[in-house]
Amino acid sequence: MRNYQVAETKTIQVDGQDYLFLVADKAIFEMDRSTRATLVELGRKKPLTRQEILAGLTGIPAEDRDEFFRELLKRRVLIAKNESVSGHDNSQIHQASIPLKTLILHLTDACNLRCDYCYHTEWSDKPVEKKVMDTAAAHHAVDFLIEQSGDLGEIVLVFFGGEPLLNFKLIPAVVDYARQKASAKGKKVNFAVTTNGTLLRDEIVEYLQHNNIGVTVSLDGFDDIHDRYRRFPDGSPSYAVTLPKLQRLLDQSNHRPAVARVTLVDKPDRVPQILDHLLKLGFAEVGFAPVTTGHPDFQLDGQAMDLLLNEFETLAENFLQAAREGKFFGFSNLIDLLVSLHQGEVMNYPCGAGLGLFAVDPLGRLYLCQRFTGIDEFNMGDVFDGFNHNKLAKFREEAEISNKTDCRKCWVRTICTGGCYHEACVREGSHLKPNLHYCEWIKRWSEIGLEVYCQLAVEHPEYLEQLCLSRGYPAEPGL
Ligand code: SF4
Ligand code: SF4
Repeated sequence: MRNYQVAETKTIQVDGQDYLFLVADKAIFEMDRSTRATLVELGRKKPLTRQEILAGLTGIPAEDRDEFFRELLKRRVLIAKNESVSGHDNSQIHQASIPLKTLILHLTDACNLRCDYCYHTEWSDKPVEKKVMDTAAAHHAVDFLIEQSGDLGEIVLVFFGGEPLLNFKLIPAVVDYARQKASAKGKKVNFAVTTNGTLLRDEIVEYLQHNNIGVTVSLDGFDDIHDRYRRFPDGSPSYAVTLPKLQRLLDQSNHRPAVARVTLVDKPDRVPQILDHLLKLGFAEVGFAPVTTGHPDFQLDGQAMDLLLNEFETLAENFLQAAREGKFFGFSNLIDLLVSLHQGEVMNYPCGAGLGLFAVDPLGRLYLCQRFTGIDEFNMGDVFDGFNHNKLAKFREEAEISNKTDCRKCWVRTICTGGCYHEACVREGSHLKPNLHYCEWIKRWSEIGLEVYCQLAVEHPEYLEQLCLSRGYPAEPGL
């Protein structure tokens, strides 16, 4: 006889209504309180036969129980015993056959700023020679991306650094070449650049806008916050230099809107005010990330992380309010979380690094992601001779969440997946370790995201669909 068990769930309560978050499937299921209590009770006595489950559903009229049982099975609230909870076969993923979607090109190692918290200064005591990518290496990188992208119809090239605009002349050469090569294969290339904004000139802005290149600007908020750590080599502040250069970029409202990325250092107060300020400047979205540094002066301690959670909670309330009024509210961290919940895709890795995403240094060497560029341990081959398949397969095998013992039973594992490899390197001593220093934080932040998700799913499901479309995903997951 077939036996069943109640899937691992986390209850989310919003306005007196219960929702079950199905942990392994990253899915959400609305449920009345008595049925949830019954399921919790049944969950304690596993495994169960169909008859035992039907008899336990006392809150449901007897004639409806059979249909309800089938609904629970369909939604995977009930699963057959011994059924794989993740449903994934991972043997293939370790092999180097995943299509390459995104290449991050380090156009140069050099930068015209000397931000105190920059991760580029952390990995070596020796002065590092600054390298600049040339056209030949860039063209090889484009060829490599197209060749490795399999059946993907759309691929992405990101211009990164150092400060990529120090090598701006390479961008048009890469864009033209990539468009021509990709179109010969029936593919579309999307372009993006991440810059500190200090070198934007009218002709650069015009080029970026004209070519639909997405722009992310690293800007830490108000002048006093920004200038604490983001300075020129002579120690002079950069905010007043950057702001006028941004105006033209941000004024072009009929073009692709720019995004701001804020690094949070030390004591992250005024986060909602920073977001408000940057949106008013004309950025479409603002994303916040705590600094990833081993230096204790910059790192956010427990108290600072608690403060950040309060600030994010306020922003989540503001977001919900805006959504109810049908307005867009560009808080990237929450948008990313809501889109990921709506898509419901279960991943065995925290991000695309080493899967469909790699960074390329100025000499054409491949690394897991932009944060690891230049570090031998994370070099995965080069764009001339291809991937180091053995090293890559070993990384994919070792980095999988199933190897992170602490994460296996964690209710938030399909959202967090152990966290960023670079942060784990800095904070936990190895990229393969889970980021245990922020478990409680990510759990509470995920709860906030789930609460907003449940409210929107009931009140304004079309708003969630619009968010997915804005990120290039289909409105209906799986389409
Ligand atoms: S790092 Fe912590 S919060 Fe994230 S999945 Fe692992 S145990 Fe859970
Ligand atoms: S490892 Fe960290 S920094 Fe690199 S892509 Fe993943 S999340 Fe981003």
